[in-house]
Amino acid sequence: MAAYDDDNIFAKILRGEIPCFKVYEDDDTFAFLDIMPRSNGHMLVIPKAKATDLTDIDPADLAGLMAVVQKLAPKLVAALGADGFMIQQFNGAGAGQTVFHLHIHIIPRWEGESLKPHGTTMADKDALAELAEKLKGAFSG
Ligand code: AMP
Repeated sequence: MAAYDDDNIFAKILRGEIPCFKVYEDDDTFAFLDIMPRSNGHMLVIPKAKATDLTDIDPADLAGLMAVVQKLAPKLVAALGADGFMIQQFNGAGAGQTVFHLHIHIIPRWEGESLKPHGTTMADKDALAELAEKLKGAFSG
């Protein structure tokens, strides 16, 4: 796997150099809405530690990251009235990874509703901002 690139877009989001629709943050973890969501509420959970992908993170940091995913996912489902959620995570360009800072996709699912294709359709910015506010509230409770 390639070395970590400090200029990848999620590193810039973590440094506050570019905006995002943040929904959660703690000492080690950051979460924000995917701007090309596969379903309403599609969000990304990332470690603050520099890691290109799943092979590049300390196991203890990975455990912490997944504990946050485990904590937020049911709150996301409840806040949106979803029927469940899907976890997606890509490793390597050949596998479909496009941003080389490890990220876990949490994708809410509704029975009978198809997913939009991965990373293709930009969502409405106002709708994302409104949704981020709602989820921030749900995650802080
Ligand atoms: P992948 O590396 O294949 O897991 O995909 C990267 C994901 O990041 C895609 O789902 C994109 O829609 C999403 N994405 C790319 N840039 C941004 C951004 N600036 N803010 C939020 N999501 C992004």
